[in-house]
Amino acid sequence: MPEGDTVWQAARRLHEALTGKALTLSDFRVPKYATVDLSGRRVLSTIPRGKHLLTRFEGGLTLHTHLRMEGAWKVFGTGERWRGGPAYQIRAILGTVDRTAVGYRLQVLELLRTTEEEQVVGHLGPDLLGPDWDPELALANVLADPARQLGEALLDQRNLAGIGNVYKSEMCFLLGVTPWLPAGALPADRAEKLPGLAKRLLEANRDRPVRQTTGLHRHDLFVYGRASRPCLRCHTPVRVADQGDGTQERPTYWCPTCQTGPAPAAGSPQRWRDRYPRRTG
Ligand SMILES: [Zn+2]
Repeated sequence: MPEGDTVWQAARRLHEALTGKALTLSDFRVPKYATVDLSGRRVLSTIPRGKHLLTRFEGGLTLHTHLRMEGAWKVFGTGERWRGGPAYQIRAILGTVDRTAVGYRLQVLELLRTTEEEQVVGHLGPDLLGPDWDPELALANVLADPARQLGEALLDQRNLAGIGNVYKSEMCFLLGVTPWLPAGALPADRAEKLPGLAKRLLEANRDRPVRQTTGLHRHDLFVYGRASRPCLRCHTPVRVADQGDGTQERPTYWCPTCQTGPAPAAGSPQRWRDRYPRRTG
């Protein structure tokens, strides 16, 4: 799943390719906008907001896209072959004189007035990579429902925006507690570290092609995607189980020795083991 750093990278690609230039081509391959043509409009900016992308155009229009699980924005030079997937997966094309941005498998694509952006992103908590970052508010949001499992509270974009499933597992490892720990049971000294830790992880990774949380040469991640493999700190086999609200279950990894707190009785290593490569974004 794309996390805040992936979305940040996509926003930068779009910004570098399009900002300040007039569109020579616009093509939206979704029924609602099939007839919309933005050619001739200048692109003003693309900004990430949590996991949302907002591309603003002259005339007060914003293209709102969200990558969800599978989506991607790719940028190609003139004459370059497009390598982002089969043509039927293309949802949007924004072309300038020398660059073409192609949106593949975008799960959310909508045009709205720039003045109405808050309606689609206003529900987000402080953005880990945004100018509105507010560590105290982010922590207060995470702890607001003390009975809620910490992993779930970290993923909730209304609390803080930018953490996806990979960082959820890695954050809980670094905090030394399981993702099933009630947020209110997080010891105060670790709660204090939580916002800074989240921000450091995302900032350290926004310019990296492969996610890294360990600072080690041979291993990029402590627990995510490492079911049954030895914990990098204590060599206990890493475990995996689902965590979710019933509507969406996500593979969640932890070390039963390094992390204290409740955990499901039976993990399901095999189910997730090979399905999730290290970088799913
Ligand atoms: Zn361990």
